[in-house]
Amino acid sequence: MFMTNPNNLGVLIVGAGISGLTLARRLSNAGEIVTLFEKSKGVGGRLATRRGSGLLWDHGTQSLNPKDLPVETWTDWERLKILIPRKDGRDINLICPEGMTQLPKALAIGITVHRNSHIKMIRVGPGGKVWMIGDDAGGWHYGNRLVLAIPAPQALLLLDGSFPSQLVSLKDRLREICYRPTLTVLATLSRKQKIDKMIKKVVPIESLTENGEKGMKDSLGALTIHLNEKYSLKHFDSPEEEVLTEIKQIVKKKMGLDILNLVLKRWRYSQVSHPLQEPFLAAKLTSPLYVMGDGFSGGGLKGALHSANTLALELIKSVSKEERENGKAKKGGEAHSFK
Ligand SMILES: Cc1cc2nc3c(=O)[nH]c(=O)nc-3n(C[C@H](O)[C@H](O)[C@H](O)COP(=O)(O)OP(=O)(O)OC[C@H]3O[C@@H](n4cnc5c(N)ncnc54)[C@H](O)[C@@H]3O)c2cc1C
Repeated sequence: MFMTNPNNLGVLIVGAGISGLTLARRLSNAGEIVTLFEKSKGVGGRLATRRGSGLLWDHGTQSLNPKDLPVETWTDWERLKILIPRKDGRDINLICPEGMTQLPKALAIGITVHRNSHIKMIRVGPGGKVWMIGDDAGGWHYGNRLVLAIPAPQALLLLDGSFPSQLVSLKDRLREICYRPTLTVLATLSRKQKIDKMIKKVVPIESLTENGEKGMKDSLGALTIHLNEKYSLKHFDSPEEEVLTEIKQIVKKKMGLDILNLVLKRWRYSQVSHPLQEPFLAAKLTSPLYVMGDGFSGGGLKGALHSANTLALELIKSVSKEERENGKAKKGGEAHSFK
C-alpha cells in the first residue's frame, strides 16, 4: 500500500497556528518529515491580522515581550528579521510592521501545509503502527506520529468516539482546560483623532489599540477593540448590528472618537482561562498521539510556544534507533495522502 517504508511516514500535525508551526519548524530543522493540516485558507490561527482598504488590524495579541519568549523561539524569530520595537511607548515590546500573522507565515516557509483541510476523523491504519486522519473532502493521510495542535474543545470533538477505552484519562485532562470568549471590534476612525491614553479602558472595553501608532505599516486610524469577558459572554450570540451600534456609541460618548466603519469578530476560544501546567498530553496507543498548544505550559502565547518547543525536543529524542537508521533513507520518505 505504501510506496515508502511505513515506518518512515513522519509526523502529522493538525492545526497550523503558532504552536503547530513552531513544532513543525523545529522538527523539520532536525530532518524529520512533517505535514500540517489546516482547516482555514491561511496559517496562523488566532495570531491573525485583517487587511482592508489599505489598513491592517491585529486581531489578538498586539505585541510580544521578548522576555516571555523561549530562547529557541526567540532565535528563530530574530533570524526572521520581521520584529520591530513597538512605537507607541509600550516599553520593550515588539510588533510586526505587517501584522502578527507575519510570524506564522514566516515559520511556514518550506513546510508542507495542506490548507482548507478540515480533519474530521482519526483512525489507526494498516499494520497498527500508522495513524490515518481523514479530511472533509474524503482524503486520508498517513503518518507514524499524530499531534493535535488545536484548542482542547476542538481536540475533544475530534477524539470523540475514537478509541474510547484507551483515551479516557487523556480526554478527562483535556476537559480541565477552559477558554474565555472575546468579541473583537475592528474599527476605522473617520479622521485623524488623538486618543487619550487615560480613557482607553472604558467598560466594556478591555483594551483599545491604534494599529498605526503601534507601528503597523500605513495603518493610522485602524483600531482593535477587545471587549471584556463579561460583555463577550453575554453578547457572544447577539446580532452583529446590535453590538456594533452599542460600541460605536460608547466610543463616541466616553472617548470622543468618531468611527467610520466597524466589523465584529467572535472568538469562541480566544484565551485560556484554565490551562494545564504540563507542556503536552500523550497517549501511547500503537503509535503515539499528542495534544499540545496554548492550553498547556501555563497557557497563552507563551504557553503555546513552550508547549511546542518541549514536544519538539521529546519527539526528536524519541525517534527510535530503528527510525534513525531508516532516517538514512529519510529523504525518500514522505507523508502519504490518498483520496
Ligand atoms: C482576541 C484575542 C486576544 C488575545 N490576546 C492574547 C494576549 O494578550 N496574550 C496572549 O498570550 N495570548 C493572547 N491570545 C491568545 C493567543 O493568540 C493564542 O494563545 C495562540 O495564538 C494559540 O496558538 P495555537 O497554535 O495554540 O492555537 P490556534 O491559533 O488556535 O491554532 C490552531 C489551528 O488549528 C486549526 N484547526 C482547528 N481544528 C482543526 C481541524 N479539525 N482540522 C484542521 N485544522 C484545525 C485552526 O483553524 C487554527 O488555525 C489572544 C487571542 C485572541 C483571539
